[in-house]
Amino acid sequence: MAGEPQSDCLFCKIVVGEVPATIVRETETTVAFRDINPQAPTHVLVIPKVHHPDAGTLAAAEPAVAADVLREAAEVAAQEKIDGTGFRIVFNTGTGAGQTVFHAHAHVLGGRGLEWPPG
Ligand code: IMP
Repeated sequence: MAGEPQSDCLFCKIVVGEVPATIVRETETTVAFRDINPQAPTHVLVIPKVHHPDAGTLAAAEPAVAADVLREAAEVAAQEKIDGTGFRIVFNTGTGAGQTVFHAHAHVLGGRGLEWPPG
């Protein structure tokens, strides 16, 4: 069922502590942890605790939680002190865009210059 934990989902396992992660922030509805393969000096993932496959399905099903994810992304940027120089919030959606984990997540990237358009 939508929103229910999935036994084969890596990020659901991080939510319950079954897979270790370097957690930098946690709220009632979200967890933020460092990406295992960082693409910038700061690279943190913010995920909802509920399982939805991507940002769009999360926003359609649980808009308040989607807003929590965005708010937390900004809080991470402030906590990591990358908010002054600028940072990027990315939601890869679909395999063609590079999505590899099908549990909604925001990448928060900063601490270096960021090119536009992205690759
Ligand atoms: P996606 O490619 O947009 O789906 O992002 C998935 C991200 O999860 C990638 O940047 C991976 O490096 C990251 N990742 C995969 N496994 C782990 C893990 O166990 N801990 C932290 N990050 C992970």
